[in-house]
Amino acid sequence: MASLVRRILGAVVRSAHIHHFGSELEAVLPTSTVNGHDEDRERTPLSEPIPAHQLAQTAHHQFQSDFFGKLPLEIRRQIYDELWRSAGESQHIFHMNGRLRRCVCVTDHDAEDERDDIVENFKLEKSLTHETYFSNSALHRQLSSTWTKHWKCEEHMAKHGPNEPAPFLPALTTCKRMYFECMESIGENVTLNFTSLQAAHDFAVVRRQAPIVSTIRRFNFSFYLSQQEINKYMPWNDSQWKQLWETLGGLENVRQVKLWLDGRLGSDQHDLQLNGPALFKCLDEAPKYRLSVNLPTDEDTEEKLTDPWGPRYAMDCFQGVELQFRGAPAYRPSDKKGVCGPTNSGMPSLEVMAWYSMSMNV
Ligand SMILES: [Zn+2]
Repeated sequence: MASLVRRILGAVVRSAHIHHFGSELEAVLPTSTVNGHDEDRERTPLSEPIPAHQLAQTAHHQFQSDFFGKLPLEIRRQIYDELWRSAGESQHIFHMNGRLRRCVCVTDHDAEDERDDIVENFKLEKSLTHETYFSNSALHRQLSSTWTKHWKCEEHMAKHGPNEPAPFLPALTTCKRMYFECMESIGENVTLNFTSLQAAHDFAVVRRQAPIVSTIRRFNFSFYLSQQEINKYMPWNDSQWKQLWETLGGLENVRQVKLWLDGRLGSDQHDLQLNGPALFKCLDEAPKYRLSVNLPTDEDTEEKLTDPWGPRYAMDCFQGVELQFRGAPAYRPSDKKGVCGPTNSGMPSLEVMAWYSMSMNV
């Protein structure tokens, strides 16, 4: 089906009147560069984006094309849906070399974090073998990935690169008419995942005026926070955290936001447990979209799981918010960018090793 859809799209591209507004798309939709080796090449600045209403005014009807002239909108929509499905309806937006990039998400965001099982199994195996955690670089990469519970997505991206072919840009750049139909379809069908607050802020706040930002219905956020960040994001500070929630509150089309939080280290996690509720004070009123927040507790006791925040749990800002407490994780993430960045990185720093040793009773 996917190849049939691509063939149809190919035919459309050949028959449509092509208008060159790719630079506008570059500005609104994170795209891949031509290849992965041009990071150091000096980039020419992008031209000013063309406002959407101007694009609409000059859009050609494209009736000479069988795709638009003969197929009803319902069928065209089904074709678009199939295109996104073939590329993955869940996509990551992330920073690489100073630019926002896109790659497919291969993790079920709602599923339990597999790393707990990985650590438990490792502890079991360790009692039978002489292998240590630190000699297992694959395990180290998985546990210390900055992509949080989406570590498999980082592995997938590292293996396939951020330039995996996808139909998004070809479809959007076919013609102005298809651009508008595809934008709507992407918004309805594609979920965007962010594992860094900086990337989420750069996408939603900095590019607030870009059509893709106001089009998306569903966002998944999975962030590690450090103590310093938690302090910075307190509601009385104007921070990227606060700006992100303010922007989301002003986006008409957002229907669902799923937020997964964790501390970078165990001490950060404790701070999150203590000050987590205050982070949401910046939600002045119950959000218009469905918000679910998934948090760890600093202990696994039943009391912590049922009433982790005590009276603070009943704050007004949590009205209508679905709170999920998942207990204390068996693993500890790392905050050392250099340590857990590239997949071929060497051993972790002594400080991080010491922390892992402590948390895993090695
Ligand atoms: Zn993912």
